[in-house]
Amino acid sequence: MATKRRSPAYKNPSARTMPSKKHIARRRVLAAVLLIAIVVGVSFAVLLAADFIFGDPGGYPYDNGEQQTYTPDPIIPSNNIELIPIAPSEYLYTPGDSVDNSSITETWYLILVSPRQALPEGFAVELEYITGTLAVDVRIADPLRRLFAAATADGISLTLRSAYRSVERQRELFYGNISRLENEGNSRERAVYLTEMYFARPGHSEHHTGLAVDILSPAHPYFTEAFENTPAFAWLSENAHSFGFILRYPRDRRDITGITYEPWHFRYVGLEAAEEIFRTGWTLEEFLFFRQINTATANDVDDHNEDEEYEPEAE
Ligand SMILES: [Zn+2]
Repeated sequence: MATKRRSPAYKNPSARTMPSKKHIARRRVLAAVLLIAIVVGVSFAVLLAADFIFGDPGGYPYDNGEQQTYTPDPIIPSNNIELIPIAPSEYLYTPGDSVDNSSITETWYLILVSPRQALPEGFAVELEYITGTLAVDVRIADPLRRLFAAATADGISLTLRSAYRSVERQRELFYGNISRLENEGNSRERAVYLTEMYFARPGHSEHHTGLAVDILSPAHPYFTEAFENTPAFAWLSENAHSFGFILRYPRDRRDITGITYEPWHFRYVGLEAAEEIFRTGWTLEEFLFFRQINTATANDVDDHNEDEEYEPEAE
């Protein structure tokens, strides 16, 4: 029985139409080659599709408004996840701790919001939309537009990628990313740790102020450090301060800012502070820290009398 079923050739060896063993072997080789070709082809197609769907777009999950290339998914807000505090040793020197935000609230453009300093309670901002979906504090809309116009005049293309972000939106991003990482098999502690490397906690993002913007370029639309090698970044580094903006999270200053290097994140601090920060290489935290010391020890010496921009804004 078994022998007969192996091949039709065994049923009737004398049949004229029966293929020879040589032919059968040849057909088997041909079939094997075809099968291998199909398997390889299908695997390649599947890999291509997977890379297209799941591949790293070149940056980390981030809210980038209308030109979004990546959405952390699935976004499952889990508001009752208990936060695990960052180890204090991660912040060796934090002059921001010494800044009393309430004393500078009248100087709206010097407000400090950081991983260690929450947005003040009852904070409100009047927004102006720069694009269809991206808005900033109405008071910096003009300087921001002038910055973009100046770049264009110099032949530099910039792209506004993030601007104002509500605490609720930050909550979605933050907890959504934690959920995503947990679903991928990370422990909650590790998911929180990894998330805090890239997302501020709700209430702690500078984007809540409406004074922070993320700027990239059409040639480099990704939130990666490699943005620093672009003409756009070179232009911003040299010119942003002339419009009151600073590179807020410089390289190797995480011990002070609490945020890793972000060559795309610029913050409006007013013309005078921007000039001084540009000149000294300080962070905003250091600027505020030294300014506070100066104010306390040399109260009778007014260093900031020449620029109207520096005066507290009337409400
Ligand atoms: Zn940013």
